[in-house]
Amino acid sequence: MSQKPYLYLDHNATAPIRPEVAKLMTAMLLETGNPSSIHYAGRSARNHIENARQRIGRIFDVDAKQIIFTSGATESNNTILNGFRDKRILVSAIEHPSLLDAGVAYETIPVTRDGVVDLNALQALLNNGIPTALISVMLVNNETGVIQPVAEIAAIAKQHGTLVHCDVTQAVGRIPFTRASLGVDFMTLSSHKIGGPQGVGATIFAAKAPLPKLLLGGGQENRQRAGTENVAGIAGFGLAVEIAQQSIPAFQALETLRNKLEHAIQQSVPNTIIHGKNAQRVANTSCFSVVGIQSETMLMNMDLEHIAISSGSACSSGSIKPSHVLLAMGVNSETAKCAVRISMGWDTTTSDIDHFLEIWEKTLPRLIKNKA
Ligand code: PMP
Repeated sequence: MSQKPYLYLDHNATAPIRPEVAKLMTAMLLETGNPSSIHYAGRSARNHIENARQRIGRIFDVDAKQIIFTSGATESNNTILNGFRDKRILVSAIEHPSLLDAGVAYETIPVTRDGVVDLNALQALLNNGIPTALISVMLVNNETGVIQPVAEIAAIAKQHGTLVHCDVTQAVGRIPFTRASLGVDFMTLSSHKIGGPQGVGATIFAAKAPLPKLLLGGGQENRQRAGTENVAGIAGFGLAVEIAQQSIPAFQALETLRNKLEHAIQQSVPNTIIHGKNAQRVANTSCFSVVGIQSETMLMNMDLEHIAISSGSACSSGSIKPSHVLLAMGVNSETAKCAVRISMGWDTTTSDIDHFLEIWEKTLPRLIKNKA
């Protein structure tokens, strides 16, 4: 098989759109209709949205009424946190900035050196006598791929009458779960990490959970989120969730490629540190530091070879600030500044990883020599 002109290994930042999704959306963009209108055009747009809601409801085993469409996980996360702004909130140290920087005060739950939320520390925070309204812990970390013990956290929270929010953005299509299997009150997710379009997401909530509102003004989304819906985007999102769910076995098979990659990298530079290696991780993500070679240098050299990888998280690329996730794991600042993330996905093949390793073997000696 001939090599692709560009090699995209940054699925955790955004995944290439699935061709089936692009086809559906292309047709829909030519349709007119505001889903709030009662004429035929409005009803047709409404049907597309409700079909997507049904599809997503089936995957996560919730009633369609328990799903609110938003502009993405950032909006969903901001909405949840803002809804509890005057109450006690506990947030894990490794959450996405859309929670950490949402402008709402919270206390931090630390993580272990492996990047897993520290359950003893959580217990201690809950046992200090101050009632806690909300705990927010993600299911899969976007930088390290480490899976968090969310079901255990929810069970602990229940004993304290505390609600739980889980950002499942990086878990959809990667590991199987439902709202009930996690036992959480709120889940937030995004379309563009799974082969759907950018700018669409959802909040899923337990039947009795008090769902907060952020955008006010219109009656859309059952009066929960004002603003005309992104009809084509929502339809594409619904299809993408369904395909992602069916593709979980194929996704999990990426583990063989990830292991091959990490093994080869450690062979070529033995002091490479693989972050979260001893924890349970999703199959597609590898985050590692070649100590002494800054992430930006690595990224630029790979980019010259038409290979897309990331430094920690896409949202912090462009700055040389070490990742808050790695710092929370106790990684020192110098090592954290050398972290790069490779994230594979539905279009990644064995020959892609072979090509990456070929370029790696060619590039690394030069970078190491330049550093000396
Ligand atoms: N949460 C996590 C874990 C993410 O990885 C991202 C995307 N980087 C977001 C939230 C934000 O999602 P969106 O781009 O849909 O706003």
